[in-house]
Amino acid sequence: MTRLEGRLSGRVALITGASRGIGRAVAIRFAREGADVILVARNQAALEEVDDEIREFGVTASLVPADLTDFDVIDRIGAAIFERWGRLDVLVANAGILGIMGPLAHTSPQVWDQVIAVNLTANWRLIRSVDPLLRSSDSGRAIFVSSGVSGGRAYWGAYAISKGALEAMVRTYAAELAKTNACANVINPGATRTRMRAEAYPGENPDALKPPEAVTDAFLDLAVPECTRNGEIVTL
Ligand code: NDP
Repeated sequence: MTRLEGRLSGRVALITGASRGIGRAVAIRFAREGADVILVARNQAALEEVDDEIREFGVTASLVPADLTDFDVIDRIGAAIFERWGRLDVLVANAGILGIMGPLAHTSPQVWDQVIAVNLTANWRLIRSVDPLLRSSDSGRAIFVSSGVSGGRAYWGAYAISKGALEAMVRTYAAELAKTNACANVINPGATRTRMRAEAYPGENPDALKPPEAVTDAFLDLAVPECTRNGEIVTL
């Protein structure tokens, strides 16, 4: 099958949370634009379904069925990508969890630790692991996914706090990348029809929300070599 020519032809992209929702839509879109993709999530069967969809675009998908709270796995990802591909051009750090909504004082330490681990620490560990690859790309692009509650919101607990800290982390990283060919930005996708959104708003009619495919343009714009933005929060 001939590889489709697109805005990401010949680029290699790592996408976390690629088994469903926004990450899955971004993975399929990037593959359609010609990128070889490395897909991370826990659900291997769901990753294989994404792989099946991508195959028709003539690109390669590498599946990494892993829990991002297994930080040793993240530490090995950079070296594994270098061995297999010799490069990484785009990181989409999208995986996230909501945790349990409720008053901050009632948040259990287990939920707190899990939300901070997935939404914040795993993304920092990813930066550590793939930073040399992004810097050695002719145009490394890191994209992180935040939320409209990142400034803090009653009853959104560790989730809101993790996203606020994530934005501070990306601004910090972006400033450090300022004199390089790499850049780092944040997307706040807004209300999108996914499992997480349904968890947060169980009474809502999902048909009233935009589908994950509707947000992929914004990810693509921040992933292409021509992107000149750095340290920005792009709100959809
Ligand atoms: P989903 O719940 O549909 O998808 C979450 C993804 O993260 C899944 O692929 C899941 O895969 C993966 N994931 C969760 N925990 C782990 C883990 N421990 N290790 C590896 N992968 C993990 O959510 P969305 O698509 O809605 O969310 C994507 C991002 O968008 C999140 O960062 C979210 O905070 C953000 N966002 C979403 C909004 C919305 O309205 N949907 C609004 C604002 C922000 P698996 O279970 O297979 O591991």
